[in-house]
Amino acid sequence: MTTLFISDLHIDASSPAVTQQFLTLLSREARDADALYILGDLFESWVGDDAADPDQRAALAGIKALTSSGVPCFVMHGNRDFLLGAEFCARSGATLLPDPVKVTLYAEPVLVMHGDALCTDDQAYQRLRATVRDAGWQRRFLKLSIAARRALAGAARAGSQAHTASVAYTITDVNSASVAAALRASGAATLLHGHTHRPAIHPLTVDGRACTRIVLGDWHTQGSVLRWDRGGPELVSLPR
Ligand code: MN
Repeated sequence: MTTLFISDLHIDASSPAVTQQFLTLLSREARDADALYILGDLFESWVGDDAADPDQRAALAGIKALTSSGVPCFVMHGNRDFLLGAEFCARSGATLLPDPVKVTLYAEPVLVMHGDALCTDDQAYQRLRATVRDAGWQRRFLKLSIAARRALAGAARAGSQAHTASVAYTITDVNSASVAAALRASGAATLLHGHTHRPAIHPLTVDGRACTRIVLGDWHTQGSVLRWDRGGPELVSLPR
């Protein structure tokens, strides 16, 4: 049996091909899996459980069909959909995971994260992250009208794209000391994350220990999935 990991689908009504490919994964390969893990940024934007667009509602229904069939689905917050909440879980049958979390896969402990918390060279982003992950900020935001929340999210997205375009490529990647610290604290030898859209399997050494960092890919032009079974992990792209 296989456990599947995906991230960074960025689903919304502007990219129906992504939605379709996700629904196909849910109704076929995922049905035979031990579990499906979605490690953040399932949605391009999520301004509250009451404000899903039609593609996001289709994705929710697809996850519900999967979980109803007996396959567990675990979802982690990303930097775009950190407001996924209790109503999302009720409607999808998915379980929210903390970030970071240690998962045991076929007897191997694996540290799992979205990945944005590792991008510590990007201090402007880390300040923003601390603000929007604050419970009081989130309560105030969710009291706004859906239109006001969408307007603020759109402005934040534009600001984020301008920021990413203005800083060096290495600034928006993970910081190697932060990766080492996370692996050290967890005791795991494998770190699995998304967020950077730079799919790869990186060998590294932490305190003399051989470790591995696996990065999931995004779904902008193709699917990306990590299949993990008793033989270990396999990172593959799914043609669209
Ligand atoms: Mn992200």
